[in-house]
Amino acid sequence: MYGIFSYGIASPRVGFKHGNYVLDLEVVGLLGYFDGLALDPAVFAQSVLNDFIALGKPVHLAVHQRLTELLANDTNTFAEVHDQVFIHLSRVQMHLPVRIGDYTDFYAGIHHAENVGRMFRPNADPLLPNYRHLPVAYHGRASSIVVSGTPIRRPSGQFLNESRQPVFGPSQKLDFELELGLIIGKSNPLGNPIPITDAEDYIFGVTLFNDWSARDIQRWEYQPLGPFLGKNFASSLSAWVVPFEDLEPFRVAGPTQNPTPLPYLHSDNPAHFDLDLEVWLQPDDGEHICISQTNTRYLYWSFAQMIAHHTAGGCNLNVGDVLATGTISGDTPGSYGSLLELSWNGERPLHIAKTVTRTFLDDGDRVTFRAKGRTKRSALEFGEVEGKIYS
Ligand code: CA
Repeated sequence: MYGIFSYGIASPRVGFKHGNYVLDLEVVGLLGYFDGLALDPAVFAQSVLNDFIALGKPVHLAVHQRLTELLANDTNTFAEVHDQVFIHLSRVQMHLPVRIGDYTDFYAGIHHAENVGRMFRPNADPLLPNYRHLPVAYHGRASSIVVSGTPIRRPSGQFLNESRQPVFGPSQKLDFELELGLIIGKSNPLGNPIPITDAEDYIFGVTLFNDWSARDIQRWEYQPLGPFLGKNFASSLSAWVVPFEDLEPFRVAGPTQNPTPLPYLHSDNPAHFDLDLEVWLQPDDGEHICISQTNTRYLYWSFAQMIAHHTAGGCNLNVGDVLATGTISGDTPGSYGSLLELSWNGERPLHIAKTVTRTFLDDGDRVTFRAKGRTKRSALEFGEVEGKIYS
């Protein structure tokens, strides 16, 4: 996994996570270990991954291959330079890995969409008529995306009080949303849609993503144009970016899509992934408790379909853009990806420990998402995304 780290007096640079260490790719490059590859080690002296990402997939694959070879036997390879190239995780500070130009948030978790529909439109079909025809999304706010570990300030905003009068104050319904964030790896020119068959070539890597949400603010403001202040106060991105090719062993067919999507969204290739996801919550002076377990298979729309749809009208994506999947919920209460669903909009407080319940987040709560893939032959663990609430 790639990330941006600093330590001691060393300025932020590109690192590759290896066990409990970060491999300093600038130093590795300066020592000549990347000789023969089409890159200047200076690309790893940058404070964001964008320049490296912009070199393109053939270079990413070559670097990844070289790192795999070097690290297969790292004690021999790096024996004489170990302390120059490896920095223990406990000594590093992680930074936002990419300069994010644009951020889009999809709504591809069908169980989440159905649950929200059941709560807020109880007498209607839980899914709106467009849901199975196109991957619904809104354009989000890139400036407030922060790296994992950044404290999250409870937002104030306008919402309806118990007498259904608009008031302004600290959100009483602060929530998380369990999502993955795709890091776009290649630009398409304005006016040139990305065909679904090419769409995965545009993904550099995948992160965990927390789309913090103030439900009371969101509910009052969102019609008719969608989320605004209920979402724009902060979103958290994991510090480590998993290269997209690392997901290959976990590729699976997605859910049956009925009706069959229109041709520009249709592909017979399996384009979903089997990754286990967990949400952990730790009250200010309490234990870390796992409160939800789910899987990325529950996404209705694939990454490729999101990209094909996003660009179908000619919209250009840029290197470093983030496309988040939308909340990933399973089909049972223990697998929901938000407190809105886990507490059913506050109606059923969630018991997380003997004397601890939650409807929405309290100050001091620390929320952590984890993700991993497991097959008989492969294992993959994402870098976590974490944030603690304060006022
Ligand atoms: Ca979301």
